[in-house]
Amino acid sequence: MPVSKKRMAYILQTLQSMFPDAKCELNHSNPFELIIAVVLSAQCTDKKVNEVTKHLFQKYKTPEDYLNVPLEELENDLKQIGLFRNKAKNIRKLCETLITQYEGEVPKTREELESLAGVGRKTANVVMSVAFGIPAIAVDTHVERVSKRLGIARPSDSVLEVEKTLQRLVPKEEWTNTHHRLIFFGRYHCTARNPKCPECPLLDLCPEGKKRMKTH
Ligand code: SF4
Repeated sequence: MPVSKKRMAYILQTLQSMFPDAKCELNHSNPFELIIAVVLSAQCTDKKVNEVTKHLFQKYKTPEDYLNVPLEELENDLKQIGLFRNKAKNIRKLCETLITQYEGEVPKTREELESLAGVGRKTANVVMSVAFGIPAIAVDTHVERVSKRLGIARPSDSVLEVEKTLQRLVPKEEWTNTHHRLIFFGRYHCTARNPKCPECPLLDLCPEGKKRMKTH
């Protein structure tokens, strides 16, 4: 095991004191808006998604709304978002499935969620935990990077292996909070290009931080 449970508990405690209020930063007011926002957030910042959904969610309130306009109109409404053509297609397919199989509601189980167009394991984890309060740890780019830098996961681990390792080391009732705190830690502190190692409270136990402090 890359880090002990004791060391992990210390990391969790530190993350909690740094980001006690970490939460999902994608604006939404129901599970349907959340799943649309998460699908849109692939390879796009939450900030940009929020800019777009501010208008989008006023115009499209139900799965039917997304199907009642021509594809080109939806594409146009999403054009500020990366991969918007693909995402527009997936959103329409997803809405069609919600209507035909789930009475227009977002389903709650992983299997059902992952059967929707554009929804992979990470999106399913976010929807399960944020919309329905089901413990889950979604591994996005921040969670993966931070876990590897801190030696929680191995550099060669796949996203799924990182998720399984975190599940093993973090108490289940803390999975969702930990997911948000790792994201905040990666987004605002241990950033991809300029991690704040000199002022990091985890420097003493961080292999990547120690390496960086030697070379800088
Ligand atoms: Fe990230 Fe640096 Fe802190 Fe390690 S010491 S967790 S690399 S900021």
